[in-house]
Amino acid sequence: MMKLRYAGLLCASAMLLAPVSSASANDELLTMQTDASQWVMPLGNYSSTRFSTLKQINRDNVKNMRVAWSFSTGVLRGHEGGPLVIGNMMYVHTPFPNKVFALDLSKDGAIAWTYEPRQDNKVIAIMCCDTVNRGVAYAAGKIFLHQSDTTLVALDAKTGKVAWSAVDGDPNVGETGTSAPTIAGNLVLIGNSGGEFGVRGHMTAYDIATGKQVWRAYSQGPDSDTLMDPKKTTVLGKAVGKDSGLAGWKGDQWKLGGGTTWGWTSFDPTTNTIFYGSGNPGTWNPAQRPGDNRWSMTIWARDLTTGKAKWVYQMTPHDEWDYDGINEMVLVDRQWKGKDRKLLVHFDRNGFAYVMDRMSGELLGAEKFDPAVNWASSVDLKTGLPVRVPEMSTEKTGEDIPTKGICPAALGSKDQQPVSYSPDTGLFYIPGNHVCMDYEPTKVAYVAGSPYVGATLLMYPPKGETNLGRFVAWDPVAQKSVWEIKEQFSVWSGPLATSGGVVFYGTMEGYLKAVDAKTGEVLYRFKTPSGIIGNINTYTFGGKQYVAVLSGVGGWAAIGMAAGLSGDTDGLGAVGAYRGLSDYTNLGGTLTVFEVPG
Ligand code: CA
Repeated sequence: MMKLRYAGLLCASAMLLAPVSSASANDELLTMQTDASQWVMPLGNYSSTRFSTLKQINRDNVKNMRVAWSFSTGVLRGHEGGPLVIGNMMYVHTPFPNKVFALDLSKDGAIAWTYEPRQDNKVIAIMCCDTVNRGVAYAAGKIFLHQSDTTLVALDAKTGKVAWSAVDGDPNVGETGTSAPTIAGNLVLIGNSGGEFGVRGHMTAYDIATGKQVWRAYSQGPDSDTLMDPKKTTVLGKAVGKDSGLAGWKGDQWKLGGGTTWGWTSFDPTTNTIFYGSGNPGTWNPAQRPGDNRWSMTIWARDLTTGKAKWVYQMTPHDEWDYDGINEMVLVDRQWKGKDRKLLVHFDRNGFAYVMDRMSGELLGAEKFDPAVNWASSVDLKTGLPVRVPEMSTEKTGEDIPTKGICPAALGSKDQQPVSYSPDTGLFYIPGNHVCMDYEPTKVAYVAGSPYVGATLLMYPPKGETNLGRFVAWDPVAQKSVWEIKEQFSVWSGPLATSGGVVFYGTMEGYLKAVDAKTGEVLYRFKTPSGIIGNINTYTFGGKQYVAVLSGVGGWAAIGMAAGLSGDTDGLGAVGAYRGLSDYTNLGGTLTVFEVPG
């Protein structure tokens, strides 16, 4: 049965993707991403594997690791993302006010230049989940910064001087910028934030040389807005039909429909395709938006050059839990059930690990990567629909009545903190949350620029457990965990796997940990000055391998500490669950760079 179905869809995918052009591919970055001595894009490479072939630091000598040097950013609140390394320069970003530091590695990290944009600090109040920023991008001698106020700015990588800037959105209606830009071909791509403010999601491409807008693709609306072709754009192998981005909405609700695109974008240069996800539909009160709310909570495959949608897949139609679908799409070419396939693997907020054929958009697998997940029992691979558990519906009970014990909580079994994939072990390394919630929908009226949430949440660990976090090694073909490490708090740090047989990750208490990639045995740990919600990277300088990470606790999980909130249901429900974190660490951005001496 299964084999027949695959065969049928393979034919379809071959037809779909036959005429492929990569004429616009940016050759410089295509080469640079394979150079392990540098770290040229936030997720390490276009496939978003966060894997490095470096192995000077390995499972035998990692126990001797020590701090080589460190650097204070001088900025409090949450430091997500991680620095880039281009040649002898390291580029370090901060949360609002979005400073960028160019550190000269040939001068022990001396500051070559600093850039600090002028932004209205009113934007702080409309950033839902701390004033985070997930990093800068590099291409063609420029550094690209996506500011909190949505401005995209191109800086001369040598001097920090502004080459151009472009305004992507309007903070007056709650639109903000938190995502790292992605460079592909001659375009710089950015998504928007503001799903908690009734913002309509879009992905926008700008020319890297001029800052001129090339295309914009919305997550909902008519085909002219979503850049969908009713006949050619597919969902699970079938044409989407006309104006599918309006189909799952009542009246004009789609105009406040969320589906923001604040996560990561991957790129397959062989098919000139970008992949990213869209977030929650607006509001969080599902009763106010009957229908499937297309295309929120959706994996998108788009042509880089035109923005036209090739295929879509909606993971959580008519969301009732804020399970944003924005987590990274990891592109892996490997065997799947005896056949070489070009896969897209995605660990969603909703707790399912999706495996798709990225050429055709066929759904190959979907299994829970946290056993606590209880809002759905499984995903039907034929229809693509989650098999929902009726008791966990937040709509069924009606407004102002909480549904209790839903797992995962709104911040998901994993949030934006990106996974790592090691081709050496064939395993994914998942930085996980292990959190459940009570969810009480409330009626909310739309006021431009004000929160448009419509739900009160309370979060806590799964019943009978105390750990809010898990670090999991996952076999994507067996669709099973191989080992896991329980962590007291969420693992809100993007791990790094290397050919040294080591995986590095950070904890919210502030530990940088190195573990054996095969067994999970902890080989090294060091407590950095603040909790780690940043992503680990590695590079060489002067022939020597270094490992670098940003500390600086905050983000959604630590919003209580970052923004000084104290009520259990504050911070969209996160404050109560993570209250104990302040016993372990404090605010403050610091870069720590590690080496093995000798
Ligand atoms: Ca959201």
